[in-house]
Amino acid sequence: MLGRGWVEALLDWYRRNKRRLPWRDTEDPYHVLVSEVMLQQTRVETVIPYFRRFLATFPTVADLAAAPESEVVRLWTGLGYYARARRLWAAARRIVEQHGGVIPSNYELLSKLPGVGTYTAAAVASIAFAAPRPVVDGNVKRVYSRLLALDRALTASAWDRLAASAFVVPAAYRRPGDFNQALMELGAVICRRERPACRDCPLQEWCRAFKRGIQVELPVREAAPRLHRIEWHVFAVVRDGRFLMRARSDSRLLAGLWEFPAVERTGGGSAPKEAVHPTTLPFELEIETRLGEFRHAITTRRIHAHVFRASLPGPTPAGWSWVDPWKSDLPRPSWVEKVRLLVEPNPG
Ligand code: SF4
Repeated sequence: MLGRGWVEALLDWYRRNKRRLPWRDTEDPYHVLVSEVMLQQTRVETVIPYFRRFLATFPTVADLAAAPESEVVRLWTGLGYYARARRLWAAARRIVEQHGGVIPSNYELLSKLPGVGTYTAAAVASIAFAAPRPVVDGNVKRVYSRLLALDRALTASAWDRLAASAFVVPAAYRRPGDFNQALMELGAVICRRERPACRDCPLQEWCRAFKRGIQVELPVREAAPRLHRIEWHVFAVVRDGRFLMRARSDSRLLAGLWEFPAVERTGGGSAPKEAVHPTTLPFELEIETRLGEFRHAITTRRIHAHVFRASLPGPTPAGWSWVDPWKSDLPRPSWVEKVRLLVEPNPG
């Protein structure tokens, strides 16, 4: 694809320069699986303490499978994208029930586990089992776009074919996990989106974008995901110092986390597939005052929330409880903290 020597130069650079991260230098497939799920859409620095705490609490896949789902979600609190926690837990249960507690080495079996798509399956298969499977993330796309001076966006399958072609080089084929991680690392620390450090790049002599001086113009932008503007009405309903809340169980998004009653209205454009809140509540509330508003983002949703203090005239609805929302071990979405600032402007 690029001529001789570039894979060896990349691997040599990676060996000498890779960041020391707690999931590096291990081929334990469980560790690799946990790290890859946590790293989906989340920065490395953010993941490190969560990864350590998670493995200290659930040292093996069997420990994870045996834990209550709520405990797994609680440990995930603050990491965001909570569906990942529930799917990882479901994957652990599947591994115990169907694979004897052994994480499959086969890419196809891996990719059938809950929450393990083609990206994560390729990462686990290549890093833990030395399978020559390409891993294509944003960093990898940027590096290849510049190395090859790609002047158009590629489809997912075209990216897979292009990335897989690197494994015809024996050095990449022999060390696919290192090769995949080296490409991602180069994209993260050298071939950055802004101001790529071409002077320090081990691939400079092969890089077509560098030779033409067009590296900062690449990669060609892919279409941005469509954003959904949403209004929430959130109700802080108090009784004897406790708040009406429930642990979500009706939806994969944010499931298992404790929330206040809320209703959702979509603004312009089509609604996202999965609403976070219903459009009406199945019980009556009496609004007392408007406390304020906050803004929040969940995946492609851009939320404008209005918060009201309210009371519940009737009995406690089924599935709801009176709880202390600020208890440190209560699994909750991060927006609950924004409500707190409105309910208790000067906490503590
Ligand atoms: Fe990226 Fe520059 Fe290296 Fe090319 S030479 S791969 S643009 S860092």
